[in-house]
Amino acid sequence: MSQTSEAALDKFTTDLLEQLAGGGDAPAQLRAGIEALAAAARDAQATAPIVALFRALREAKAGAGLGHEAFGLSRADLEALARRHAAIDEHGVTVGGRAGRALDIIAQANPRVADYLARKDEEAPSGIELWDTIQENQARIRKALGLDEATWNSFGGQLANAINDVQTLARCIDLPADTIRDVTRVTGRYRMRLTPYYASLIRPGVVNDPVLLQSVPTGEMVDNVGEELPPVASDHSPARLVDQFYPRVVAVKVTNICAMYCTHCLRIAHIGSADRTFSKAAYQEAIDYIAANPAIRDVLITGGDAFMLPNASLKWLLDKLDAIDHVRMKRLGTRVPVTTPQRVDNELLDILEASNERGPVRVVTQINTAQEITPVSKDAFRRISRRVMAVLNQAVLMRGINDSRIKMWKLCETIQEAYVRPYYVFNCSYRNPQYTHMRVPIEKGRDIVESMYGNISGDAVPRYIAAAGGKVPLHRDNVVRREGGAVVLRKPWSGEETVYPDALPGLYDNDADFAFNKYGKERS
Ligand SMILES: *Cc1c(COP(=O)(O)O)cnc(C)c1O
Ligand code: SF4
Repeated sequence: MSQTSEAALDKFTTDLLEQLAGGGDAPAQLRAGIEALAAAARDAQATAPIVALFRALREAKAGAGLGHEAFGLSRADLEALARRHAAIDEHGVTVGGRAGRALDIIAQANPRVADYLARKDEEAPSGIELWDTIQENQARIRKALGLDEATWNSFGGQLANAINDVQTLARCIDLPADTIRDVTRVTGRYRMRLTPYYASLIRPGVVNDPVLLQSVPTGEMVDNVGEELPPVASDHSPARLVDQFYPRVVAVKVTNICAMYCTHCLRIAHIGSADRTFSKAAYQEAIDYIAANPAIRDVLITGGDAFMLPNASLKWLLDKLDAIDHVRMKRLGTRVPVTTPQRVDNELLDILEASNERGPVRVVTQINTAQEITPVSKDAFRRISRRVMAVLNQAVLMRGINDSRIKMWKLCETIQEAYVRPYYVFNCSYRNPQYTHMRVPIEKGRDIVESMYGNISGDAVPRYIAAAGGKVPLHRDNVVRREGGAVVLRKPWSGEETVYPDALPGLYDNDADFAFNKYGKERS
């Protein structure tokens, strides 16, 4: 007899054995079934047949009130099988733990995601799942705009043929006459621009398609009442092109150009009404400010959109930043891999990698729906992700776009599968009346973000943020109350409370005896 077979049974197993105790008069068919399971369990070199027997016994007890004696199994027989289970299992998991508890615990948890699994592809299809439709859209748009394949597949071709007015858009996608009239009213004041590629992501026949909502302004944009607050730069810009909320992180807005203009753009005031190329002198002033302030460690190159700069300008900027000793980290803010993935050429990737070798580069993007991840944008992100430290996403929580559990979970899972890590979800800003109709209540965003914990990978859960002169977390507090030397925590995924003992204050405060401090005292 091996030592393990003599090991004491744990509490989960003795509890289970108690539960199964008793006899009774089993119907022949049930008895034959359980006898077959018992025979398989006795011969088992694996854990599953033993678990199957114990589960069947538990069902017989719960259903028909029949104990193990009713099947000719003694307590000693079951104990022997229980010991065998623990001996086979590499981690010593007992049959009481597995058959009596773990399988029930996970069965109880599964319904939390059942609704999501059933509805996600219908309610929040990704651009990969919609690829057939998108390709049909591309053929239609190419024809309408007279674009050959090479033009479609080039960044220059996409930009040269960007859709800047609703009449052109109406040739590419079906828009009702009153929509065209109303959008024209808005585009007189605010810019609209979609690359033909981004326009191809819009699903025909979906009235409030989330890509349409992000890119084509509606009447609310001019009709919403409210005062537009001055852009944050008006009191957070210590130097030309520079926005600074924090001592160690600054943003440099290197262009006002984007490949498409978002209806929810926080930088709507910078975007203005015309593309502008900024001078080297302006860039140099920003670089000089950063060089003169040694606290600055992390520099965001943003816009507009950083990837709208030519490769040579991006290289110049990164080289300048890498030459400053105290600048250790860089970030590039861009939506271009989503809106015009044709931009991501090898020369750009080489520039990113060269700078990343000198100090970490992160690419920070904005993807708001799974629909925006297509095989093409996924490939662009995959290639970028091989050259930089991380690709991070900053989504904006918006009505009708991503304001449900299903849409937000699907977004976060889809981008993670496309090599992009969910980083922030912003509550849509109050500062601009242009998009107050897109705002989602703060509480709703908390419910959505909290619902992710424990239900999708931890590194796919974004932080929920209010942009309020700096990024302020909006997450709900999971510390319910303090109980003596412990806190009571609430598990976001089940609401279950759990007591979590705190560090012992007496021990923490006693520096004199901490680690090596306690040694060598007689010598000092
Ligand atoms: C977003 C932003 C940052 C970066 O904030 P993190 O929390 O570090 O991502 C820094 N400066 C400005 C002006 C910003 O808008
Ligand atoms: S990509 Fe960014 S800066 Fe450009 S329009 Fe959209 S939100 Fe504004």
